[in-house]
Amino acid sequence: MKIAVLTSGGDSAGMNAVVRAVVKVGILKGCETWIVREGYEGLVRGNDHADGSYPEPPTVPEAASEAHHGHPTNLLANLRFGDGLLLRDGTGDHRGADGSGNSTRTLAGRYLVRVGWDDVRGWFAEGGTLIGTARSAAFRTPEGRTEAAFNLIKEGIDAIAVCGGDGSLTGADLFRAEWPSLVQRLVDQKRITPEQQARHKHLRIVGLVGSIDNDMCMTDLTIGAPTALHRICEAIDNINSTAASHSRAFVLEVMGRHCGWLALMAGLAAGADFIFIPERPPDAKTWEDEMCETVHRHREIGKRKTIVIVAEGAIDGDLNPIRVDKVKDVLRDRLGLDTRVTTLGHTQRGGSPCAFDRILPTLQGLEAVNALLEDTPDTPSYMIGVRENKITRVPLVEAVKMTKAVAEAINNKDFKKAMSLRDPEFAQ
Ligand code: ADP
Repeated sequence: MKIAVLTSGGDSAGMNAVVRAVVKVGILKGCETWIVREGYEGLVRGNDHADGSYPEPPTVPEAASEAHHGHPTNLLANLRFGDGLLLRDGTGDHRGADGSGNSTRTLAGRYLVRVGWDDVRGWFAEGGTLIGTARSAAFRTPEGRTEAAFNLIKEGIDAIAVCGGDGSLTGADLFRAEWPSLVQRLVDQKRITPEQQARHKHLRIVGLVGSIDNDMCMTDLTIGAPTALHRICEAIDNINSTAASHSRAFVLEVMGRHCGWLALMAGLAAGADFIFIPERPPDAKTWEDEMCETVHRHREIGKRKTIVIVAEGAIDGDLNPIRVDKVKDVLRDRLGLDTRVTTLGHTQRGGSPCAFDRILPTLQGLEAVNALLEDTPDTPSYMIGVRENKITRVPLVEAVKMTKAVAEAINNKDFKKAMSLRDPEFAQ
């Protein structure tokens, strides 16, 4: 089996650990391993084979033991992306995949790259995604997906692991479902042979959830959420000391459009006086009183600082957004507090993954390769999740459908339904 792994949609810490795990487990199980740069956009663009200057891909070790000991598979580690993107600084004393020591070869015109064991060494400690992610309008069209199918078949790839959010996983499921018709179209266009069609009757796909918001149903935790939470806690710890020194109030905006997990857990882990989350909107007419009473009470018992956390998607009971500036004005005008706003923004996404965002993707990467090896046209495409500390496989469509239903329930003010969909035990 030839497996390609890609990262798509918003980046999250732990995506590199996914790539590392899929590549290493793939090699250990005797597969040939590839990465796709720039998510689905890379699949649509494919490889420019007219560029004869590109070196042959490295030989993947046949036996696992060979893979561990300096087999010349350092391809990515030594390459600069030709379009200005830099995967790694290529100035080190590495030897290239072809043993030439040439460390500045370009990946221009190549979005699908065959990789080996050494290419992903140490990737679990790297933030973001080294193979790039993008939002691809072309992949949303049948024409774009036909190109993507052609590019995979051209390289003989028959399995892909996609790490992304619910949009990326929806795209993955659609691609797999319509694969036979895409392949037929390519035969009709005489771009692939009937032999290639016979070999590529089915596309194996598996999804891993990379999302800092922890907003996917049917799994307890998404890859990147623990690190984002960690970053928020660090920020609150830092703010706490200055807030207490000046007896100030701080209103913090954290990420989470339809899911208040980060805001809620940050409140638990680093302390907060009041928290606004999308799933439990306060009454539009009374939230100001409620917040001021709570903060006032805390001040009365001697607290010198106030922390209010607002998830970016927080709303009131009439569906009006809760704006951090409004919260700040209320605290200042009604309680006379010297109040500042801090929007954490992209600092929540970046940086080195915390330990759990290395462990979870590693365990899930193993399960993802197993799911690909067992994938047949009769099995559903799977999303790899984690439930009660066990790595799980759930039908990808169901998880995505339920996640979309939660967002819809919130938009329709049906918060009880939203919570029961996310956690069936909530309904009881
Ligand atoms: P996320 O995966 O983080 O939710 P997006 O919703 O932006 O991010 O999706 C990432 C990419 O997945 C899109 O740019 C698009 O290429 C692909 N995608 C999303 N939804 C679909 C869809 N319904 N059909 C085909 N491709 C899709």
